Amino acid sequence: PGVLLVQIRVAYVSARHVVVLAEDRTQARRLEAIRRDFVVNVSHELKTPVGALSLLAETVQDAADDPEAVRRFAGRMQAEAQRLSALVQEIIELSRLQVAGALGTLTLVDLDGVLAEAVDRAGTTAAAKRVRLEIGGTHGLEVFGNHDLLVTAVRNLVDNAVAYSGEATRVGVGVRESGDFVEIAVVDQGVGISPSDQERVFERFYRVDRARSRETGGTGLGLSIVKHVAADHGGDVTVWSQPGRGSTFTLRLPRVPVPPPGPIGIPTTT
Ligand code: ADP
Repeated sequence: PGVLLVQIRVAYVSARHVVVLAEDRTQARRLEAIRRDFVVNVSHELKTPVGALSLLAETVQDAADDPEAVRRFAGRMQAEAQRLSALVQEIIELSRLQVAGALGTLTLVDLDGVLAEAVDRAGTTAAAKRVRLEIGGTHGLEVFGNHDLLVTAVRNLVDNAVAYSGEATRVGVGVRESGDFVEIAVVDQGVGISPSDQERVFERFYRVDRARSRETGGTGLGLSIVKHVAADHGGDVTVWSQPGRGSTFTLRLPRVPVPPPGPIGIPTTT
């Protein structure tokens, strides 16, 4: 930090000219450190469910003559395996988002379709908690982008809103136009997030309450993925929240993505 690392290269020499290229290596060094951190975090996060699974397998073997215990431990093994599978899937998704050209070919994406697909998965969980899911109309708004990635981003926000909401509350999804941008807001009346946690929830693997996140099957990668999808589209995601009262996450997307400055696909720190 604070040190500028420059690589100097002689690019062209003629009788009258010498062209020298100076390349800033600071960014490259920073990226290397981020990647190293990611690998360390991933290994750590994978070890927990794998460890739990192997422990549970041993316990099942020991309890072979108690059918009720076997059933109970097998159920827990299944839950751990599901968690592991979700984790692996999100790690792959995040890694994909970090390479150049992750957006693929851009198409005109209809936001009504995105919202409908995004809330689909949360329906069962919401119904079980009597959480009312309300989707506002998008007034036919469209953006240029990657349909599947946008569904993933909005889905992560809606899944969180439902997961961190109490019984018989409301979760709303609304879309509005704001200049050259379109804003998708996901509003809940759930547990909320303290100001210091609001600054960190978009970091990889960051969870406010590990035990609770484990209960809800969280991986700590959902919001990090949303942040990458937003950035890749030239937009951003922000949070407004009051602990105990609820949270609003806003995904802001340019109707036509602006290419990010510098080489594309550079991962950010989170
Ligand atoms: P997770 O898989 O744990 O939900 P995320 O990256 O999606 O991971 O979210 C990070 C953390 O931010 C969560 O563990 C949770 O503590 C907090 N969080 C996310 N969305 C909400 C929300 N709508 N209300 C309250 N807390 C939230």
